[in-house]
Amino acid sequence: MSSNRTGTDGKKMLDRFPWIIPFSCEGCGDCIEACPTGSIELVDLGRKVDKARVTNPDTCIGCGKCAQACVVGAVQMTSCVEKALQLYKEKTRLG
Ligand code: SF4
Ligand code: SF4
Repeated sequence: MSSNRTGTDGKKMLDRFPWIIPFSCEGCGDCIEACPTGSIELVDLGRKVDKARVTNPDTCIGCGKCAQACVVGAVQMTSCVEKALQLYKEKTRLG
């Protein structure tokens, strides 16, 4: 079992977090099916196909099932959790 750290704001920090590479994503939805917390959705980024994105980063439990489900390797689990969360939240606000 992974050990969670505590962040500067006192909230539990995950050890790892999914980072989805839009260029590699084919929009198949397998990661969305695999996610037990409904944290991922397909979003329109103006490309040919909609791309997967973690739209609910607060509900992600860092289980890695999305990465396991993606056969093209578009989901990588990163240990740079704080940076990934910050970027997702900025993009979610903009989007
Ligand atoms: S499983 Fe991979 S290719 Fe399919 S939607 Fe998710 S990130 Fe994209
Ligand atoms: S790591 Fe687990 S909870 Fe987080 S988005 Fe992937 S499947 Fe969902």
